Amino acid sequence: MSTIAPLIAGNWKMNGLTHSLEELSELARLLTTGEAPRAVVVVCPPATLLATMASQGASSGILAGGQDCHAQSAGAHTGDISASMLADAGAQFVIVGHSERRADHGESDDLVRAKAEAAIGAGLKPIICVGESDAQRDAGEAEAVVSAQLAASIPDAAEHHEVVVAYEPIWAIGTGRTPTLEEIHDIHAAIRARLVDRFGLSRGETIRILYGGSLKPQNAREILAVDNVNGGLVGGASLLAKDFYTIISAV
Ligand code: PEP
Repeated sequence: MSTIAPLIAGNWKMNGLTHSLEELSELARLLTTGEAPRAVVVVCPPATLLATMASQGASSGILAGGQDCHAQSAGAHTGDISASMLADAGAQFVIVGHSERRADHGESDDLVRAKAEAAIGAGLKPIICVGESDAQRDAGEAEAVVSAQLAASIPDAAEHHEVVVAYEPIWAIGTGRTPTLEEIHDIHAAIRARLVDRFGLSRGETIRILYGGSLKPQNAREILAVDNVNGGLVGGASLLAKDFYTIISAV
């Protein structure tokens, strides 16, 4: 692990009703009674729970994040949510370009970059997701695919504003499969090299690169110890406070 303060973000996806906030209370209890976490802790609930979660999590240091935002700040976009609305509800982060958004809503790299720009404009830190499919990995194209996504999805504003990159191989999300530690090492090193190429050494070396995809209590310690893995983006295992806390404690 490098000297960048690690970050663990939970992505609840389209899961969670009011009673699910009990898990947040339990997480807060674990975080405040156990050993102080070394990681910055972020939870990205569905938008319906965001404001409550942001205020409930504040006393225990749990930060809130959105799962997506629109590229425009306001207007006639029924059902969408803007970055400034997320910020207004108490969010500090927002996930953009998650592979489920890219697949379910046909989001392109250009759109993801516009969303990241909107997030920065609203004072949020975007967590920009990239990752290859299993066919692309099998064809030996993982690094090229991820490099192209990085180039097109990260806005130039990242030179002066905080952004987070999340490497999430699509085939590892929700499947229980993970890349080998060597594969994670190699692709995170390649991402770091692209960031340094584009933003220079001092900036490129300070951008967090999270690993995401079937990160669990059982594998967190070894994955989070890989060079250039500066934390994790956690889906399924973030829904249960006990599991999420175990991952946070693995840092
Ligand atoms: C995700 O969807 O961002 C994710 C990493 O999911 P899971 O941990 O469930 O694989």
